[in-house]
Amino acid sequence: MSFSSLGLCDELLKTLQEQGYESPSPIQAKAIPVVLNHHDVMAVAQTGTGKTAAFTLPIIQLLAGGENSQAQSPRALVIVPTRELAAQVGENVQNYSRHMNIRSAAVFGGVRIEPQIFQLQNGVDLLVATPGRLIDLFNQGALNFERLDILVLDEADRMLDLGFIDDIRRIQMLLPIKRQTLMFSATFSKQIKTLAKDMLTNPVSIEV
Ligand code: AMP
Repeated sequence: MSFSSLGLCDELLKTLQEQGYESPSPIQAKAIPVVLNHHDVMAVAQTGTGKTAAFTLPIIQLLAGGENSQAQSPRALVIVPTRELAAQVGENVQNYSRHMNIRSAAVFGGVRIEPQIFQLQNGVDLLVATPGRLIDLFNQGALNFERLDILVLDEADRMLDLGFIDDIRRIQMLLPIKRQTLMFSATFSKQIKTLAKDMLTNPVSIEV
C-alpha cells in the first residue's frame, strides 16, 4: 500500500516523503480515500495509530481544491478536547500543508484571545479549536460558520469524559446541516453511538 494509491496530490506526497513516512498506517489507508470522497466517517482508533494524518491530509487536499476562506469564516473545523491536543494538531496541519496554500490556526483557552481574533480576521481555512474557546470566539463575533464544509470531532470519548457534551451540542446547532463530519474516538460506548447518530449522516465505519 502506498500513499499515492490513496488519491493524495503531489504536494502532499512530497511532504510525506520529506517527512519520512513510507507507507500509510491502517487508519490512514482506510480513512483517506473515504474522506476524499466526501463521506462522513465514524472511526474508532487510539492515539498513536496515525489518526491525525488520517483526517488532516485529505482535508487539506479538499480545501486546496476550493475557494479561499473569507475573514472569520473557516471551511474546516477540528474540535479537540485539550489545549495540548489543539496545539499538536495545529502543528501537524501547518507541517503537512507546507507546500500548499492553506491558512490554519489553533485556538484554545488559557492564552489571550486577541491574537486569535486577529488571526481569524485575516482568514483561516482550517481551524483547530477546543470547545470553550470556540464558543467564546463565536460569542464575541470573531467567528461564523456560514462557509463551513467539514467538521472533525477528534477524541470524542475524551470530550465526553471532560464534560464537553453541552458545548458540542451548542456548537452543532451553529453549524450548517449540509456538511461533511468525521468523528474519531478511542472507544465506541453507548454515548458515542448516540452522538454519532446525531452528528453523522450515513457514516462509513472504520475500526483499526
Ligand atoms: P497520531 O496517532 O496521529 O498521534 O500519530 C502518531 C505518530 O505517528 C506521529 O508522531 C506521526 O508523526 C507519526 N505518523 C503518522 N503517520 C505515519 C506514517 N504513515 N508513517 C510514519 N509515521 C507516521
